[in-house]
Amino acid sequence: MAVTKLAVCGLCSQSCLIDATVENDRIQSVMKAQGHPHVRGSLCVKGAAQKQFIHHPDRLTQPMKRVGPKGRGDFVPVSWDEAIGAIARRLLETREESGAKASVYYAGHPKWFRRALGDLAAVYGSPNYGSESSCCNRAHGIAWDLVYGCNLRPDAARCKTFLIWSSNPAYSRDGSLAQIRSVQKRGGKVIVVDPRVSPTAAAADIHLQINPGTDGALALALADVLIREDLYDRDFVERYCVGFEEFRAYAAEFPAERSAAICGVSAEKIVQTAREIAGGGLSILISSCSIVHCVNGVQNERAVIMLSALTGSFDRPGGNCSLTGETAALDDNHQNLAPRPDIGDDISGGAFPIWQKLVNEAQCIHLADVILTQQPYKVRNLISFGLNPQMWPEPDKMLKALESLEFLVVTDLFWNEACERADYVLPACTAVERDQVIVGQDNHLFFIPRPIGPGSKLPDVEIILRLAHAMGLHSEILDLPDFDAYLDYILRPTGVSLAELKTAPDGLTARKTKSGKPYSYERGLKTPSGKVEFVSSRLAACDRDGYSPLPEFRDWRTLAGDRERYPFLLVSGGRRAQFFHSCTYRVPWLSALEAHPLVFMHPDDIAKCGLANGGNALVRTPLGALRFTVAADIGVKPGVVHIYHDDPDGSINRLISSDWLDPISGFPSFRSSLCAVEAADEETGVL
Ligand code: SF4
Repeated sequence: MAVTKLAVCGLCSQSCLIDATVENDRIQSVMKAQGHPHVRGSLCVKGAAQKQFIHHPDRLTQPMKRVGPKGRGDFVPVSWDEAIGAIARRLLETREESGAKASVYYAGHPKWFRRALGDLAAVYGSPNYGSESSCCNRAHGIAWDLVYGCNLRPDAARCKTFLIWSSNPAYSRDGSLAQIRSVQKRGGKVIVVDPRVSPTAAAADIHLQINPGTDGALALALADVLIREDLYDRDFVERYCVGFEEFRAYAAEFPAERSAAICGVSAEKIVQTAREIAGGGLSILISSCSIVHCVNGVQNERAVIMLSALTGSFDRPGGNCSLTGETAALDDNHQNLAPRPDIGDDISGGAFPIWQKLVNEAQCIHLADVILTQQPYKVRNLISFGLNPQMWPEPDKMLKALESLEFLVVTDLFWNEACERADYVLPACTAVERDQVIVGQDNHLFFIPRPIGPGSKLPDVEIILRLAHAMGLHSEILDLPDFDAYLDYILRPTGVSLAELKTAPDGLTARKTKSGKPYSYERGLKTPSGKVEFVSSRLAACDRDGYSPLPEFRDWRTLAGDRERYPFLLVSGGRRAQFFHSCTYRVPWLSALEAHPLVFMHPDDIAKCGLANGGNALVRTPLGALRFTVAADIGVKPGVVHIYHDDPDGSINRLISSDWLDPISGFPSFRSSLCAVEAADEETGVL
């Protein structure tokens, strides 16, 4: 008989609560959780299709061991004990023979188990724990750390102006359009900066449709107007900032007319926007991986976020604020990683000194090169969870690297191209196949039992604990006996145990909470000067090309190479409502919603190139060419080409160079590369 059970959707990072109707241990349908007193989120198109995700025929169901040559796909099922024992022995032997650093521990999507994996790597002794943050989010964090020593969230509920920069939360954040409307309803203004007319941009009061990668020039022009017209918060700047005079002089090099020509928006609109954001109450929302996917990304984002200090909005109500009030938090923050040993000897080889100082994981963007060239040293083992080779620029190089590795372990939900090159493949549970504890509204805690069984699959944390036990590694987390004990452990800061929560179907209110600490600039920020840094002392200390202490604007278009041969600006990485990176392309209901892979172009460009809407086109870069279906889009700027990332039928990262990186963060240029577009037919070869 079918029963409806509460569950947590784990298809993206929002963890919405859903009602899953279950029969014979299979999900039959899902809907937004009804009548739950502390419900959050809703049900997006991805979540609604999750029945096809959870029960997909490509799901891994048992541990497997390779028995034939790599790449031939000859695997046999083995028990968990056999797989864990063999992997543990291999890791211990390698440490004995080559040192701990010869083993890399890598986390892709999802994120919840990273703290345990970081512990495993650190206690094993390897500095080489890394994650998909090597090209997502961390560069954004670095920009904030350089300027403010912290990264504060926008306070959209109280802001005067909501500045949404290079982000389309309409497709990536549940409820964002309602949030925009509520800002407007109470008289606030919504300003969107985006090269495309996205649904978010269409809902804005002002949309600045800039050329991709010119964010820094626009931000400097806005700063210049604020300073010239004496609209900045002089008191905040004098008391809490350093380097203002140098910044003022630099911003003066970007008058509105000059930046208008660089950015492709009118000078009048720049001046109008600057006047709009003056006076405080400016909340800035930036996608974690948009501005920074550019060779000048960190510097551009520094310039943008400095507008918060200039307008006196930083860490004040309506601006980007510290958390205040009493909050209950689980001890599951995947960013609270154990300190890494021998950081200076990680696989980055010292290429990114600011990253090494500010980010507690190895920058893995060069992982394929490290494996293939054995520089700065030989990597022998890669222990991976959720590794997607297509995440890297030039993913074919990563596939070659995985094939050449001595020993590869792939933990995943689905059979994929990394599995084909693995020595052991381990099946992990989805969010609906493992128990969950969550914090709801008003610090109320819930235990949500898994609605369906895991079969032979295990929660990622359980796999990590078993590996640690088999290797005799110890830490507070690694000594936990199993996943249940882990859930009890992460509940500790709330003063509620797992045992009592399991017996409370309506949940329990946390007994212990933490109080937020507002106005950190008054106590001193975590920058070297303790103040907001318009001129970065950390960057000054590095003295490297691209590390200007001021938020220097470098126009990537003038650095990118042959504009005549590759006249279009190639932007990838935007979100589609039905896709979450590569995860949901395999879901038939979602994949069928529109033809793909698509290249979005302005109709004028389609005509100029002799193409037809719905016809074939080859998108070419110096790395080769791939075939796409042409999609006319008046929301794309003329001269720009937009392609969604991670489409398995046309992985645009194959055309993006792995050497064209932001020098500070090492982030690839997913949004700042050049390309050509030409007519193609079905016969035209690719790459
Ligand atoms: S995929 Fe959709 S329903 Fe699931 S957590 Fe994300 S936003 Fe919520």
